Amino acid sequence: MEWREVPEPRLEGGGDALVRPLAVARCEIDPFLVRGLFPAKGPFALGHEAIAEIVAIDDGVRRLAVGQRVVVSFQVSCGRCAACGEGHTAICDRYPTLSDYGMQPLSGVEYGGMLSDLVRVPHAEAMLHPIPLGADPVALASVADNVVDGYRTVARHLARRPGADVLFVCHGNRSIALYGVQTAVALGAGKVTFASDDAQALSLAESRDGASATRSSSTAAFGATGFTMPSAPRRPRGSARASPSTPVRGTCRCRSRGSTRWASSSSSGEPIPPR
Ligand SMILES: [Zn+2]
Ligand SMILES: [Zn+2]
Repeated sequence: MEWREVPEPRLEGGGDALVRPLAVARCEIDPFLVRGLFPAKGPFALGHEAIAEIVAIDDGVRRLAVGQRVVVSFQVSCGRCAACGEGHTAICDRYPTLSDYGMQPLSGVEYGGMLSDLVRVPHAEAMLHPIPLGADPVALASVADNVVDGYRTVARHLARRPGADVLFVCHGNRSIALYGVQTAVALGAGKVTFASDDAQALSLAESRDGASATRSSSTAAFGATGFTMPSAPRRPRGSARASPSTPVRGTCRCRSRGSTRWASSSSSGEPIPPR
């Protein structure tokens, strides 16, 4: 990694904003990008989870103001097409698939990265979301990606089954699973269990009031739970354990390989391959 001077981004019309990143979270995908595990032809800008300050906006942008602190969507997306309307902002009709900040190797297009002095944000009214006055940018830096992933993993299911028990099986990629634990506790889940072979992740999960953590690397199933969420299915232990722990008509939600798509299904105890 190194700092490079690049031309300053400018407003290009069409609802743009320029933002100055204030706090940037290190996503779990960033080390893979840095180590060159993707077929990347560098250099490319890095960083995609940030809280930023608006320093300039197009005249047509009404809902935002210079000086506001905002969450910046890491997926470059218009907010108006059919895909965006369904919440699939990773495949916005107006941009190549996986058009993201800080991840040029995924889309082939360089949109800039949040570890920069200045970033251009198109479709600012769709992509920027003001944070409450006085909120700590560092505490919120991951809201653009992993916090929301943790939230959407459980919130929809708990809304359908209030008070359900939730089991998280986490072998690697722990941040989303841990945000899921926080969400489950905050939304009033029944018994929240976090199973992992990662000592630090276990202690972080246990520090959440209302969550219990279990150290285990075996494939033995837990007792029936209302909802399970295996993390990192490329390590098959997570899926192997979570599926048998899911009761009939329960939900097992698996993270699919290397993307932000998730599969969800009812289970009668049969293993559920990620789709
Ligand atoms: Zn991320
Ligand atoms: Zn779109």
